[in-house]
Amino acid sequence: MPLLADVAVPVPLSQAFTYEVPAALAGEVRPGARVLCEFHRRKLLGVVLSVSERSTAIDPSKIKPLAALVDARPALPAELLSFLQELAAYYFAPIGEVLRLALPALEREQVRALKAQGELDGVLDLGRAKQVGGRKVAYARATDAVEEPGTLRGQAAAVLALLRANGEQPVARLEERFGNARSALKKLAERDLVALEEREPPRDPFFRLAEARDVPPELNAAQAEAAARIDAALAAASAPGAGEHRAGAPHEPRPAAPSAFLLFGVTGSGKTEVYLRAIKSCLERGRGALVMVPEIALTPQLVARFRARFGDALAVLHSGLSDADRHGMWSSLHGGNVRVAIGARSALFAPVPDLGLILVDEEHDGSFKQEEGVRYHARDMALLRAHRAGAVCVLGSATPSIESVALVRRGKLAELRLPDRAHREASLPEVTLVDLRRFGAGPSGDPLISLPLHRALEKTLAAKEQAILFLNRRGFAPSVVCGSCGTLTTCEACSVALTYHRGRRRDAPPPAGVPAAPAPDGAPAAPPSAGALAAPPMDERPQGGRLRCHYCDYAGPLPDRCAACGSRTLLLEGLGTERLEATIAASFPEARVARLDRDVAGKDRSQAILARMREGKIDILVGTQMVTKGHDLPNVTLVGVVNADAALGLPDFRAAERGFQLLVQVAGRAGRRDRPGRVLIQTRNPEHPAIAFAAAHDVPGFLDREIRDREEVGYPPATRLALLRVDAVDEDVGRGAAAKLAAHARTCPEGLARRVEVLGPSAAPIARLRGRYRFRVLLRARERGPLRGTLAALAGLMRDGLDRNARVIIDVDPVAML
Ligand code: ADP
Ligand code: ZN
Ligand code: ZN
Repeated sequence: MPLLADVAVPVPLSQAFTYEVPAALAGEVRPGARVLCEFHRRKLLGVVLSVSERSTAIDPSKIKPLAALVDARPALPAELLSFLQELAAYYFAPIGEVLRLALPALEREQVRALKAQGELDGVLDLGRAKQVGGRKVAYARATDAVEEPGTLRGQAAAVLALLRANGEQPVARLEERFGNARSALKKLAERDLVALEEREPPRDPFFRLAEARDVPPELNAAQAEAAARIDAALAAASAPGAGEHRAGAPHEPRPAAPSAFLLFGVTGSGKTEVYLRAIKSCLERGRGALVMVPEIALTPQLVARFRARFGDALAVLHSGLSDADRHGMWSSLHGGNVRVAIGARSALFAPVPDLGLILVDEEHDGSFKQEEGVRYHARDMALLRAHRAGAVCVLGSATPSIESVALVRRGKLAELRLPDRAHREASLPEVTLVDLRRFGAGPSGDPLISLPLHRALEKTLAAKEQAILFLNRRGFAPSVVCGSCGTLTTCEACSVALTYHRGRRRDAPPPAGVPAAPAPDGAPAAPPSAGALAAPPMDERPQGGRLRCHYCDYAGPLPDRCAACGSRTLLLEGLGTERLEATIAASFPEARVARLDRDVAGKDRSQAILARMREGKIDILVGTQMVTKGHDLPNVTLVGVVNADAALGLPDFRAAERGFQLLVQVAGRAGRRDRPGRVLIQTRNPEHPAIAFAAAHDVPGFLDREIRDREEVGYPPATRLALLRVDAVDEDVGRGAAAKLAAHARTCPEGLARRVEVLGPSAAPIARLRGRYRFRVLLRARERGPLRGTLAALAGLMRDGLDRNARVIIDVDPVAML
C-alpha cells in the first residue's frame, strides 16, 4: 500500500488533497510539517494533516508525489494542528486559510535549502509566506541542574544567581554587568548548569527597558480563593492520567475539578494578580501558559507587570512586531525556551509548549472577534483549545459577556468572584446621571459640556487631580449638513455620513453656537440643531481640515457648497473628540489637555500619552474607547461620559450590552486609590437600563435583565446565529444572491422542519460599503446541529450555484451586526 499524506493547501477550499510520500521522505514527513506540492501546475506550500499507509479509491496515476519537505520539525505541534482543524470546521472556513493564521514565516535558510535542491526552479508560489532570517544573538539560561554546594565562586556564582532569579538573558547584557561573563558562562555550561543558545533577538519595544522584579503582594481573601480554585484545576489537569485526556483519548474521563472559569471581578479588584498566580502555578507544573488581551498596545502596564514577575522569558505577540521579531517569538515558544505568551486575538495560535493554561483578560471585549478573513472569536476558541489540550481556561472581566454568564448558568464555566477593589482604601466611584434634557450648556456654551460637568472639572483641577472625558465619536464634527435644505454629506462609496476632521491646529477653538453670518446666498437658513457650527469660509479653513469616511479610506476637502441645492451654508453638526478637546482647552486655559483616539495614536503615541497621564503631565484626557481600557491611573478622580446615548441606539441586539460595558469600564478608571472617584454620565435617556444599572454599579442586575430580554426576543445566548453576508458592486446581483441563499435555506431539510429560522434577505443596516451593496440572511436556531446542517447545504450552493460577482461570507456567531 502506498504511503499517503493529506495536505491542506492555501486555497479557499475546505478539503485537503492527497499526495504520495516519496520513499526518500518516508518517516520524515509528519503531520504539521510544511511541504512543497504541485497543485494545478503550480508548486504550493502546504501543510501535512495526516500520513498513513492506506489504499485509496483515487486512481494511483493521479496521485502526485510530494515535491519536498520544508520543515524537518513540524511547524505546527499536534495539539495546535488538531485545534486548527476543529476551528475550520466550526466556522466553515477553508482549512488552508485557517492554518495560515498559525504558520510562522519561512526562514531564509529553509528557502536556501529548497533552492539548492532545485525545488524553486520554474513555477513556484510560496503563497503569501513571509521570509525571515539574519543576525543571531547568544542567550544564556539556568538549567534545572543543581551544583554541589560551595563549588561555585566569584562571577560564575553571581551570573548563575542572576539567571535563576531573572530568567534567560542575552549574553551581551551579562557582559555589560560582569567583565568575565563569557568565561563564567563557559564554565557553567560545561557543568550543565547553564544552557547557551543562538537565536534571533527580539527587538520589541516592550523589551527595551529592563523591568525590576516585583514582590508579589499578599492576596486578599477573594483573590486567594480564586487562585486556589484555579490551582486545584491545574493540579487535576496535570495529574498523571490526565495526560490521556490531553491526548484526546476517545473515552476521556471528565476531570473532577472544573477546568474553565469566569473570573468576575469589579474594576480594580486585582484580577491581574490572580492571573499572575495562576501562571506561576502552571509553570511550576512544567506547562506553558497563554494570555490574551484585547489591545496590547494599550496595555504596556500589563506586560510590564508580567515581566516584573516572570522576567523576559515571555513572548509578547502583537501587530507591531516586525516579521523577524514575530518569528523570533514564535521559535522561542516552539523550541520550548519560552513558556508564556501574551498577545491580542492572534496569540490564540501561539505554539505554547505543553499548554496548561489560557487566560482571556477583558473577555467581553469585541476585539476578540476577527471581522475579516476567518471570522473566529478568540474567546470562544480559547475555551475550545484549552479543552482539547487538557488546559485550564480563565475568562476575566468586570463586565462579563452575556455569553459567558450563560455558560456559568449552564454549568460549563465555574464562577470566581472578586467583589471589592484590591486597594484597601479604594472604593467604587460615586456615579451621577446628568439629564441633558434638564441641564443646558455650561460656561463653554457647548450643550454637551453641562454645568455640572464643568463644575466637576473645575473642582478636579483645583484639587490637582486628573479627569478623563469619554466620547464615542472621533473627529471634529460627526456630520456636515446643509443649512438650507438639510442634506447630509455622505460618502460616495458608503451609505454613511462623512466626519469633519479639523486636523492639527494650535489656535483658539471656534465659538460654539449658531452660524456666525447669514447664508451668503440669502437662502433662509434651516434652524440649526443645538451645537451646530457654520463651516468656516474657504479661506479661513485650517490646513488639513478634511472630510473623512470612518468605514472606507475616503478623505477629501470640505466642499464649498451643498451638492444638492448649491447653498454655501454648511453646518458642522455634533461633537467629536477633536472639538471636545479644543473646547475644553479653551474653557480651562490653565489645564493641560490631551486627546487619545485612533487619529492621534499610533502604537508608540498611545503609550506615550498614557505614560504622560500616569506621570501627571496631563490634567484632562479626552478620548474614545481607548480611554476605557484597563488603565490603572492612580490620580484620576473624575470620569465624564459626555454622551452616553451615542452607543445605545445602534440597530444591534448587543447595543445595550456594549453600552453598559463601556460605561462600567470607563467609570472603573476613577478613584482607584485612596482618593474617592466620581463619575458623571450625561444622557437624554437616564431610564435606559444600560445607563441606570451602570450608574448603580449593578452588573449582576444588568446581566439578569439582559439575559431575560434576549430570551424574549430570541437572540443569543438563547439561540444560535449564523449570518450570511452577501455583497456585490451591482445591487441586483447582491440582492439576487441573498434571495437565492434564503430560499435554499428555507427548503433544506432543517429549514422545512422549522428547526432553523431564516430571516431575510434584507439590506444590511449599512447598505453600501466601499462601493459594494450589502445584503444578509440571518439563520437562527435553538440548537447547533440544525444550524450546521443548513450551513453545510448552503456551502454547496455557494460553491457552484451563485452569481460569481456576488461575494458570500458565512459568519458563525456573528458579532458585528451593521
Ligand atoms: P483589575 O485587573 O481587576 O482591574 P488590577 O489587577 O489592575 O485590577 O489591580 C488594581 C490595583 O490593585 C493594582 O494597582 C494592583 O497592584 C493592586 N493589587 C492587586 N492585588 C492586590 C493585593 N492583594 N494587595 C494590594 N494591592 C493589590
Ligand atoms: Zn442644500
Ligand atoms: Zn466610505
